Amino acid sequence: MTICEIMALAEKHAAWAIERRRDLHRVPELDWDLPKTSRIVTDALDEMGIGYSRIRTGVVALIQGKGPGRTVGLRADMDALPVTEPDGCPFGSTHPGRMHACGHDVHTAVLLGTARALLECDFPGQVKLLFQPAEEADGGAEPMIEAGCMEDPHVDEVYGLHVMPYLPAGHIECREGALNAASDLVDITVYGRSGHGAYPDQSRDAIVCAAQLVTALQTLVSRNVSPLQTAVLSMGTIEGGTANNVICGQVHMTGTLRTLSPELRAFLKDRICQAAQGVAQAMDCRAEVRLVPSYCALINPPQYARGVLDTARELVGEDRTHVKEASSMGAEDFAYYLLHAPGAFYHLGCGFEGQENAPLHAAGFRVNEDCVQYGIAMQTALTLKALGRR
Ligand SMILES: [Zn+2]
Ligand SMILES: [Zn+2]
Repeated sequence: MTICEIMALAEKHAAWAIERRRDLHRVPELDWDLPKTSRIVTDALDEMGIGYSRIRTGVVALIQGKGPGRTVGLRADMDALPVTEPDGCPFGSTHPGRMHACGHDVHTAVLLGTARALLECDFPGQVKLLFQPAEEADGGAEPMIEAGCMEDPHVDEVYGLHVMPYLPAGHIECREGALNAASDLVDITVYGRSGHGAYPDQSRDAIVCAAQLVTALQTLVSRNVSPLQTAVLSMGTIEGGTANNVICGQVHMTGTLRTLSPELRAFLKDRICQAAQGVAQAMDCRAEVRLVPSYCALINPPQYARGVLDTARELVGEDRTHVKEASSMGAEDFAYYLLHAPGAFYHLGCGFEGQENAPLHAAGFRVNEDCVQYGIAMQTALTLKALGRR
C-alpha cells in the first residue's frame, strides 16, 4: 500500500475519529475509574465488529488479518487530569474539575480511527489495540502487561504516540534512545528530638538538619554526576515544626528524581541515602529514606525510531519531521511495553501554526484536530510496514 493510499484512508476516517474524540473530551475520567471512557471505546469496537477483552477498565482488542503473521501492538492511554476546563469549548468537560488536558482523548480517538483504516487493509497476522488506563496516576501499563496484554498472541512490535502542542499539527517528532526519563519518589523523614526553643543544647533540631540535607542533596547532581549526563533531583515538599518557640523534632520532605540511565539511577539512589544518613549523623539526628520507583526510562531502540522518522518523512515531508535533540525529563509509562517488544514512541504535533499554544496539563491546553488524520496515517503506515505490507 502506498503512503498516498494510507493518507487517503486516514482522511476518510478522521471526521469519525474526531467525533469520538469529542465524545471522550466531554467525559474526562481519572486513573482506572473510566466507566464512560471505556464504554465509548467498546461501543466503537462493537460498531466495527472488533472483538476485545477487558483488564479492569482497560480494553485489549484484536484485529485479525488474513493468514498467519506477526502481531503489532498499538497503545493509547485514556485517562484525564484533575484540571478545571475553562468555559468556551463546544464539547467541553461535563465533569467538574476534570479535563483531558494531556490529550489522551486524542490518542484514544486516533487508535479507534486507525482500527477503522486497518479494517480496509489487507495484511497477514494481527493488530492488537491496547486502550490503557492510569497513565497519569500510578501507571496502567505494568498492570496491563502483568495481566497478559502483550501475550497470546505475543506482540512482536509496539507503537505509541503523544500529542505535542509545541509542534503544529502535521509535524512529527521522534528520537533514538532515551525519550523520557525514569522517575522515583524521594521520601525522607529526619528525626531529631524536640525541646524548648531557648535550650537548643537539650534537643536535636530536625529543621537545621533538614536544611543542611536539602543543600547537600542539591550537590548530588551538580557535583557527583558528569556534566555530560542528565539527571534532576527536585525536592517539592518540606514540613515540620509546631510552634515558634519549640525546637522541631521531626521533618518530612518529598521530591522527585529523574534519570535517563539505569546505572545513574541506581548510583543517585545510593547517594541520596548516603547523604541523608551522613548529614543526619553529623547533626546527631537520624534520617529514614524511602525511594519509591515510578516509571522506568522510555528508550526507543534506534532502528525503530529511525523507522518512525522515515515513515514521517514519507508522510509529512522532511521539513515537518523532527529529530528531537534532547530527551524529556518527563515520564511516560509506554516505556514498559518497550521492555517486552521492540518498537517506538513518538510525538504528534497538535498545535495551531503561528499561535502560542498552552502546554500539556495546562487548563488552556487546546488541540488542533487536524492532527488526528496524521496520527491515524502514521499508526496505519507503521503497522503495515511491520506486517510487510509496505
Ligand atoms: Zn500527562
Ligand atoms: Zn499524557
